[in-house]
Amino acid sequence: MHKIILNLKNAKYPIYIGNETLSKFPSLCKAHRIKPHLAIVTDKIVAKLYLDELLSVLKKSGFSPEFIIVNPGEKSKNLFVLSEIITQLIQMKLRRDETIIAFGGGVIGDLAGFASAIYLRGVNLIQFPTTLLAMVDSSIGGKVGIDHKFGKNLIGAFYHPIFVFSDVSFLKTLPQREIICGLGEVVKYGIIMDSEIFKMLETQLEDVLKLNSRVIQNLVYRSVIVKSRVVSKDEREKKLRMILNFGHTIGHSIEASLNYKRLKHGEAVMLGMIGESFISLNRGILRKAEFERIRKVISEAGVVFPKKFLAKTLILKHIGYDKKIFSERLNMYLPVKIGRMKFFNDVSLEEIENAIDFLFNQN
Ligand code: ADP
Ligand code: ZN
Repeated sequence: MHKIILNLKNAKYPIYIGNETLSKFPSLCKAHRIKPHLAIVTDKIVAKLYLDELLSVLKKSGFSPEFIIVNPGEKSKNLFVLSEIITQLIQMKLRRDETIIAFGGGVIGDLAGFASAIYLRGVNLIQFPTTLLAMVDSSIGGKVGIDHKFGKNLIGAFYHPIFVFSDVSFLKTLPQREIICGLGEVVKYGIIMDSEIFKMLETQLEDVLKLNSRVIQNLVYRSVIVKSRVVSKDEREKKLRMILNFGHTIGHSIEASLNYKRLKHGEAVMLGMIGESFISLNRGILRKAEFERIRKVISEAGVVFPKKFLAKTLILKHIGYDKKIFSERLNMYLPVKIGRMKFFNDVSLEEIENAIDFLFNQN
């Protein structure tokens, strides 16, 4: 099992990454002085697959776990479901020094994490991610929260867990499309900081998609290192965290222009990365061969730009194009080679428009 320490100004905690390591979970809880009475928050799908196993492992080691099950999906990230969770925590009499386990994907991490932050002004939290996206992205860095009808993640907090426990054997049941969604962020880590990740994707994509646990564990491990490094350094260098936005300026706009339907976040981000790399290519700061490597990995992951369903004006509108004056310049990190980014404060809207044109004109 790998252990990575996330070292922040106000928090320091380990992220464990293993394969078939559930039996070690209770002893880790004990090592972190977790009290026996626990509330596991999960969704229906994860509960059906894994809740009995988790309960039995915990009970065997002397814990008394209770559980709260919510409906799966982003639609559960709201004030109503949050309030239901709080009600059940009160009914369980979960105390201030006891612990909530967020057992599921990013939705559960955000929702149960936020419940932990506000119930009794904060109880202990363990992040136990079960999707690739949650393992490499949302479980790290302490962002928790819910959506509002006016927008995603409008209500939330920074709230750090006691530890994060990622076991890649849980990914075996994850639908292929959810794996690809998580891969979006993994490709991103490869391009922004770790060319080894990128090479692994180039040479072993088939193994990754087949969920070869050795390869996946290694990818999750290296991805968590990149994210942890950025999140902890950003406390000193304020703009560094923007590097994690690579692919997201264009990606988010594509996603939003489709009303968050048809494309998953990771897929939209992969397309956004092609677009934003195109800006580099066009500026002559990224070699054509490197650009083609990026394009190839993404197309081999099976992600295609759904031209038919997209409108350029709508994508641009979501970038805020209609509100911005044409002379305005954007701050952005752009790739200069695979594994290295450079910060620019002069990206023009015209360059973004050209990048979106490129996406429309592919193939
Ligand atoms: P995210 O992609 O942000 O992690 P979710 O929390 O919505 O998003 O998880 C995506 C979907 O995958 C949900 O329907 C969830 O119930 C399901 N899921 C989570 N973990 C697993 C797993 N290990 N096996 C199968 N399905 C899972
Ligand atoms: Zn993302």
